[in-house]
Amino acid sequence: MAKTTSWEIVMGLEVHVELATKTKIFCSCTTEFGGAPNTHCCPVCTGMPGVLPSLNRQVVNYATRAGLALNCEITRYNKFDRKNYFYPDLPKAYQISQLYLPICRNGGVEIEAEGGGKKIIGIHEIHMEEDAGKLVHDPWTDSTMVDYNRCGVPLIEIVSEPDFRSANEVIRYLEKLKAILQFIGVSDCKMQEGSLRADINLSVRPVGSDKFGTRTEMKNMNSFKAIARAINGESKRQIEVLEEGGTVKQETRRWDDNKDASFAMRSKEDAQDYKYFPEPDLIPIEISEEVIEETRKNLPELPEAKRQRYVGELGLSEYDAAQITTSKYLVALFEENLAAGYPAKELANWIMGEVMRMLSDSGKEPEEMAFDYGYLGALIGMVQRSEITRNTAKKVFKAVFEEGCDPVKYVEEHNLKTVTDTGAVKAAIEEVVAANQKSVDEYKSGKEKALQYLIGQSMRALRGKADPQTVTAILRELLG
Ligand code: ADP
Ligand code: MG
Ligand code: ZN
Repeated sequence: MAKTTSWEIVMGLEVHVELATKTKIFCSCTTEFGGAPNTHCCPVCTGMPGVLPSLNRQVVNYATRAGLALNCEITRYNKFDRKNYFYPDLPKAYQISQLYLPICRNGGVEIEAEGGGKKIIGIHEIHMEEDAGKLVHDPWTDSTMVDYNRCGVPLIEIVSEPDFRSANEVIRYLEKLKAILQFIGVSDCKMQEGSLRADINLSVRPVGSDKFGTRTEMKNMNSFKAIARAINGESKRQIEVLEEGGTVKQETRRWDDNKDASFAMRSKEDAQDYKYFPEPDLIPIEISEEVIEETRKNLPELPEAKRQRYVGELGLSEYDAAQITTSKYLVALFEENLAAGYPAKELANWIMGEVMRMLSDSGKEPEEMAFDYGYLGALIGMVQRSEITRNTAKKVFKAVFEEGCDPVKYVEEHNLKTVTDTGAVKAAIEEVVAANQKSVDEYKSGKEKALQYLIGQSMRALRGKADPQTVTAILRELLG
């Protein structure tokens, strides 16, 4: 019975996003990331008896904005519920969330499908809720401590339909989601700080089957690379289980990126029989037509519209436009310099080339670019005016990116300006010619290669600061 089955992966995502409000959802404590443990807390967010939550309206505004940008219907009348469970990072022993009437429903995000073409990932719902604290394990004392600073930080949870069929689709969706949420200003989406984290529900089924398999859930994933590896690893594990005649258990699994494997978590933690109650301390939220229309009108240009405009009006390639619009910060870098008059194509080349290279070499995200965005234009300007060569500009950009140096000053201080004095260039080349008689003879006997060598030597003598075309022209003239 050597029958091989092909398998299809099916996934749905629950994405938690911390909103960029200054204060928490039900009290006026700061939402700032980090801080000494338990210093961003008050009786409300630490769940002391007898306190009352009071809703931060900005959370509702942000959730509405997010819902509209993600093509959802806004629930005119929505409300909060208590999700009861006991866990040390949740001092009230319940989380205020929305179960019955979430603020947004029935949305969708368009992504590039695996086999080409477009595909809509359905959004089942978006609800508002409060974040929990953090457990900190101390290996020295082998004890676990709790930091409640994050308790009560506002979240939206975006629940997708089970529409993903590959890791690529998941990454594209998350990139798109991140870009949209950053553009509309509702979250910084810093994955490394956990302000965007995804739970991945994954099952497999034989290709052609119309029933879903049993799923597992990997929670709180906050790196694209780890997510891709987790999907790969977990789908392989499930396929193996099924091919050996076993069954997949519905459970929460923890992806260990160092071991490149997922592990079942204690069953106590994945018992999903949460008890929900309507939240009696908060009145239902009513959102009027006017507010919805106002919010819709005030949405900025979204990444998809920008992408189309970059291609249609600015003449960028589809690929460049798609890459740049993945990030609010790359867009800012591009648009700020465009507004200052630098050519779109040249800016795109720099962003797709040197900027992307420096980002990937340093393992940084675009939001971590710490230099003045205008410096990129200043650098391009120097190349346009032939003050520095393209090669020098690339070296200078490294200093701009890594240390935030002002490129004009940097070029000045390091004496990197192109030698424009043709007399000086010619003198340097004459010396090279005199010192390399052998190459000169070879060139004269018809070996083009020898010229390359002489150009190289001349550029070296001029410390890379001459325009290579000028050098070539002078050499040819000297060698007759
Ligand atoms: P829960 O309430 O237990 O979290 P939901 O029904 O809300 O479960 O689903 C959570 C996520 O799991 C959703 O994103 C959904 O699309 C996804 N999902 C549901 N069933 C499957 C399945 N069989 N395979 C993969 N993903 C699934
Ligand atoms: Mg779930
Ligand atoms: Zn508080």
